[in-house]
Amino acid sequence: IPLLEIRNLHANINNNKILRGVNLSIFEGEIHAIMGTNGSGKSTLSKVIAGHPSYDVIEGEILFQGKNICDLDPDLRSHLGLFLAFQYPVEIAGVDNQEFLEAIYNAKQVSMNLPKANPLFFYELLREKLKMVNLDESFISRNVNEGFSGGEKKRNEILQFALLDSILGILDETDSGLDIDALKSISKTINILMENKNKSIILITHYKRLLEYIKPDFIHVMQDGQIVKTGDATLANLLEEKGYDWLKPISN
Ligand code: ADP
Ligand code: MG
Ligand code: MG
Repeated sequence: IPLLEIRNLHANINNNKILRGVNLSIFEGEIHAIMGTNGSGKSTLSKVIAGHPSYDVIEGEILFQGKNICDLDPDLRSHLGLFLAFQYPVEIAGVDNQEFLEAIYNAKQVSMNLPKANPLFFYELLREKLKMVNLDESFISRNVNEGFSGGEKKRNEILQFALLDSILGILDETDSGLDIDALKSISKTINILMENKNKSIILITHYKRLLEYIKPDFIHVMQDGQIVKTGDATLANLLEEKGYDWLKPISN
């Protein structure tokens, strides 16, 4: 069975229909890219999967490992192994990163009936993950995302993904605002993370550039709250050449 299966998903925000029948299946180990113009519903889809409370699912289902998660709170979804990296990571004033990371790590442990991490063990684990994502140790004693550069915020998100050892990561515009070196280097980190064959990711991006460094198994195009086209990695070339206008949503 798929790791994630979305069936005919319709979702609203403030009574505005945004998702209009999304269908998507993702199996273990796969990399899926979602592309599409601004406003097509990509971030909405990721937030609905994560369980953001502002959105109402009005039709359809989201199955994670075969289980419908539509009624689960976001933290429970995260404990099951879903990870969402936001397009705009939030700064949390007054909370240092280590404290925050330790809290989310331990919350997951507790929800799986496992003991909280011994602080020394946690520190060692965190250091190992910091190294993996190329963040300096000083980042753990700074407030969460406060004053971080665009690239550092994105790395901090990947750090959370690695630390929680999530099964499915949804990375919303991880490439936005990054220069070419930062993009290359974060792609390398994501590829290292994906060497764990059980993990899957959904990369949301406007740009073909990211997909030159992280090779997707599938590319989906969103338009007007639907996935209107699915192809392999070569679809990115066609999109670059022809844009999105030739792909029209299925009316319903
Ligand atoms: P994308 O990530 O593909 O650029 P979004 O999912 O952010 O698109 O937005 C999809 C649509 O939902 C847009 O038309 C946007 O204006 C609309 N939308 C997003 N948030 C709200 C909101 N709070 N109220 C009403 N409409 C919204
Ligand atoms: Mg956008
Ligand atoms: Mg978006």
